[in-house]
Amino acid sequence: MRIAELHIYQKDLPVVGGPYTMARAKVDALDSTIVQLVTDCGLTGWGETCPVGPTYQPQHALGARAALAQMAPGLIGEPANETLTLRRTMNALLNGHNYAKAAIDIAAMDLIGKQTGKRICDLLGGATGDRVPSYYATGVGAPDDIARLAGEKLREGYPRLQIKVGGRPVEIDIETIRKVWETVGRDMRLAVDGNRGWTTRDALRVSRECPEIPFVMEQPCNTMEEIAAIRGQLRHAVYLDENTEDLNAVLRAVSLGLCDGFGLKVTRLGGLTPLATVRDICAARSMPHTCDDSWGGDIIAAACVHMAATVNPLLLEGVWIAGPYIAQHYDSRNGVRIVDGHIPVPGGPGLGIEPDDGAFGTPVASFG
Ligand SMILES: [Mg+2]
Repeated sequence: MRIAELHIYQKDLPVVGGPYTMARAKVDALDSTIVQLVTDCGLTGWGETCPVGPTYQPQHALGARAALAQMAPGLIGEPANETLTLRRTMNALLNGHNYAKAAIDIAAMDLIGKQTGKRICDLLGGATGDRVPSYYATGVGAPDDIARLAGEKLREGYPRLQIKVGGRPVEIDIETIRKVWETVGRDMRLAVDGNRGWTTRDALRVSRECPEIPFVMEQPCNTMEEIAAIRGQLRHAVYLDENTEDLNAVLRAVSLGLCDGFGLKVTRLGGLTPLATVRDICAARSMPHTCDDSWGGDIIAAACVHMAATVNPLLLEGVWIAGPYIAQHYDSRNGVRIVDGHIPVPGGPGLGIEPDDGAFGTPVASFG
């Protein structure tokens, strides 16, 4: 089964009730890139990559499409069912740009599933259940508004809440954390995500002033070095997210004991097959983690859920998907949906979702 055609599409995903605000980024709409691989036996596989604007990470939408166009001619004729061969081919065609390569990796896994009649979670080792827990991420907002939202999400069944902080006086962040805690208490697990936005001074102050609130502190500061400098003084567990740029960064963090867990992104690491390696490293060290992506529609959501379904449930922190924030589906019948704060694992081979005809309009580039 070889790649005969490669099509690249662009899709705008407006944020419902936007903008969505983080410490260092504010977005009104996301610019997603979709890849369609068509094989010589007539099967179609789908992949997607959707950075959260141009400042959340070094990744950006125009870069994704440029990287895919750079690699595409060299991928025509390559074996679509050999993810390692494809990764080596892509690395020989372009240095870096894991987030673009991820779209090819996801599409290849979709094709392998369709060829063999297996779900991606089965190809990744097997699912532990038929649904995975999700979590809700607030934007950065006024303390009373975020506390009210936390109460709503608790009633909707979410087992975990991530409170976005940073980019403003830290006193407001502390007030927000306290008001959420007073609202939901131990009925939801809590993460506080600084998205690189705190100084070490701010992170230390939050931890010292909220010692009794059992949250994990996600990516409080910009660099691993800043986090390493204060780690011994923090009263809270620390997770890395944005700093886990690739497998090497994960290995460095684990081997140096820089964190207690991770917020993991499928596309940042290069796709499902590299993430499976990270999943196994985390299992070897009993480190909890999420299975997310930065943003995107049903394709990315399905990829995250399939991976999460294979994670030891005791280590799975949850799956964030953009569904509630974009309120549209590529697959109008079987799109990935959150039910009572959990996400059913898609059935059917491959990703288990199939975009509606014409969901992405005309390709912006075609090869093969
Ligand atoms: Mg995060």
